[in-house]
Amino acid sequence: MTVRVRFAPSPTGRLHLGGARTALFNYLFARHHGGQMVLRIEDTDLERNVPGAEQELIEALHWLGLSWQEGPDIGGPYGPYRCTERLAWYQDALRSLQDRGLVYPCFCTPDQLAAERTQALASGQVPRYSGRCRHLSAAEQAAHMERGTPFLWRFAVPEDVVLTWDDAVRGTVSVRADDLGDFVLVKSNGIPTYNFQVVVDDAAMNITHVIRGEEHLSNTPRQLLLYQALDKPAPVFAHLPQVLNSERKKLSKRDPHVEPVLAYREKGYTPEALVNFLALLGWSPGGEQELLSLDELCARFDLARVHRSGAVFDVDKLNWIAGVYLRQQPLPWLTGQVSQQLSEHGLQPPPGSGPDWLERAVALYRDELTCAADFIELAGSVLLQPEVVWQAEALAVLRQPEAAAVVRAYRALAADDPDWTAEASRRRFRAVQQALGVKGKALYLPVRAAVTGRAHGPDLQETIACLPRAWVLARLDNALAEVGQV
Ligand code: GLU
Repeated sequence: MTVRVRFAPSPTGRLHLGGARTALFNYLFARHHGGQMVLRIEDTDLERNVPGAEQELIEALHWLGLSWQEGPDIGGPYGPYRCTERLAWYQDALRSLQDRGLVYPCFCTPDQLAAERTQALASGQVPRYSGRCRHLSAAEQAAHMERGTPFLWRFAVPEDVVLTWDDAVRGTVSVRADDLGDFVLVKSNGIPTYNFQVVVDDAAMNITHVIRGEEHLSNTPRQLLLYQALDKPAPVFAHLPQVLNSERKKLSKRDPHVEPVLAYREKGYTPEALVNFLALLGWSPGGEQELLSLDELCARFDLARVHRSGAVFDVDKLNWIAGVYLRQQPLPWLTGQVSQQLSEHGLQPPPGSGPDWLERAVALYRDELTCAADFIELAGSVLLQPEVVWQAEALAVLRQPEAAAVVRAYRALAADDPDWTAEASRRRFRAVQQALGVKGKALYLPVRAAVTGRAHGPDLQETIACLPRAWVLARLDNALAEVGQV
């Protein structure tokens, strides 16, 4: 049997990390088993469709490095792959259920249904359809049709049936069909509901494994009933654990740190890092190693190692993984990404900087970056504007007894040093050390504090060499003024 899976998003917005995780797990499973992956756009909820969402989704999946063998963009033997183009399939399936008396038209008005629902909730019951139209006689049905009463098609759920399936993640799950109520298959506008559409399509496309988010667990019994009614074999179901925020609540698009997939591209994350991070959201490779390439993930992926309990979205872990992957990239690539960030933010290297300035600056901060956009946050206030704001700890350093003397001595040497390189700065420090007899922290920290506004940061000599001399001299002067040392 060839494994066939599908990623079946609804084009209702941008692809977020939860959706990307579902796509990735399907992809890994398909590749692990030498199978096929289908991209199917489930666009039958017409009011919720967002123009351009399908295109963006495809772009996001490609950026992550995922691909599929069949889909709306590339076609395939089981197409079309957009559900609104498959209405004939749903009509056929409906007809076959009608022929066997497994469905019935429901003429209840929205007001009637709402009243029933309110009543059920008020008496503490789970609302479900009363079955009122299930028992209409043929004559009553014909009368409604003649009057043109709007209607939809409901599935007649059989009584006393227990639905059981072996979920590849959750183990055996059983649900009593009686609790489901006769659910809608085709709405009054002729469009199928998700539960009907998904079964017709998964069966028609020979899908063998349905790997999707846990929020669909409650739909599965309805879908199993439809497989039985349509006489089709049901696929294996695997429901992935919910993604949770740090408070262990369902992760929402509004959580800070959670962004659409392409926002990570815009910030200059590497897609490999995001893929590695997503793979660990609810799956573990076993063993210590957590850093795995897409190929390694494919080789190892296994539904048996998908967790049942919620997967916490850990921002620190994302940043750690992102940093590791970023440091593996060649410096010119990273410099290109940072350069893009600078132009997007309307920022420029300081005046008079040579062509290699950005690469040197990026090299300085490389170890601290998780994405290219971090450069602006980390280096912006030090390297990209003439003046700095001194942090409290920098001011404390500058108020130490010998600090002002060191700053003044360094400034005097910097003012007319013909050489403006890291090596030249090192030489200046040696000269200050000899002149004042100050060394170690007491020598470097005051200058660092004055020039960068902080007590910590990357290599000081390189930092100074990356700044125009005029900026450095002005900062040294202003820092002294700030602590009343002029
Ligand atoms: N269109 C559904 C969604 O976006 C897919 C559910 C499924 O995979 O069955 O949630």
